[in-house]
Amino acid sequence: AERLKAGLAKTRNALGKNLAGLFGGGQIDEDLYEELETVLLTADMGVDATGHLLKNVRDRVSLKGLKDSQELKGALKESLNELIGPLEVPLSLGEHKPFVLMVAGVNGAGKTTSIGKLAKYFQSQGKSVLLAAGDTFRAAAREQLVVWGERNGVQVIAQDSGDAAAVAFDAVNAARARGVDVVIVDTAGRLPTQLHLMEEIKKVKRVVQKADPTGPHEVMLVLDANTGQNAVNQVKAFDDALGLTGLVLTKLDGTAKGGVIAAIAKQRAVPVRFVGVGEGIDDLRPFVAADYVDALFD
Ligand code: GDP
Repeated sequence: AERLKAGLAKTRNALGKNLAGLFGGGQIDEDLYEELETVLLTADMGVDATGHLLKNVRDRVSLKGLKDSQELKGALKESLNELIGPLEVPLSLGEHKPFVLMVAGVNGAGKTTSIGKLAKYFQSQGKSVLLAAGDTFRAAAREQLVVWGERNGVQVIAQDSGDAAAVAFDAVNAARARGVDVVIVDTAGRLPTQLHLMEEIKKVKRVVQKADPTGPHEVMLVLDANTGQNAVNQVKAFDDALGLTGLVLTKLDGTAKGGVIAAIAKQRAVPVRFVGVGEGIDDLRPFVAADYVDALFD
């Protein structure tokens, strides 16, 4: 929680500085609500979530008969917790062996970094990990993954074929044959507007299903928190194409746009499994809504 708090310093500074004035005492009135609206929009919560939160705060204020602006903070925290709480659904491997986790994202979102962190996370839980080097567009990326895997005791399946679906298929079968616990299927970075690439990743999913009819057990989108409102559009597009089951929100440490989680909660509530709070291999945290809200306000 401390790491998260440090990570969210930028959002907190941006949000907190603005909120401090609002919560500083005085009457709760229309001007105050208007200022609150501006502050929430500035933290990139988006129009929908901002409207939702404002209404929720107003309801709480009238229900509890709050008068003083200092009491507004509690009402806002409660409302935010209620909004983003449903996004807190920890990733569970269940009985699947191998558990097949497919990872998607746009270039630069932090996909490769997050996969490394995830592999480490599973290993720290005593699980063996196999990686499918499905980013077949960048030979260098593939080589890097192989080297990284060797260093960290993570098996890597790579091919020269250039067919991401074939790599994924091989990896799932290899994992089953070798008794590996978790397969992480990497895919090339792509934009939702690149329709042929979206077709390609849908094919990867279909082929994974051929190798394991119960899978993939997790279809995860890696999102850069700095993309603000565009992150919501990415969630929608990848969810429409693939049926997302989880998100990793990266780079929450260097952004003032941490409010984007509220926007996601309101517009396409895909569970946030993890948040990235730094470049290091350990800088990945399971998402805990209450910690997140506390980190923003306290
Ligand atoms: P990819 O293109 O999606 O595979 O992105 P990379 O994994 O290569 O990451 C792009 C850049 O973002 C790299 O410089 C990473 O170190 C950095 N990065 C990834 N996740 C985080 C994070 O949670 N916090 C910070 N500060 N940087 C991150």
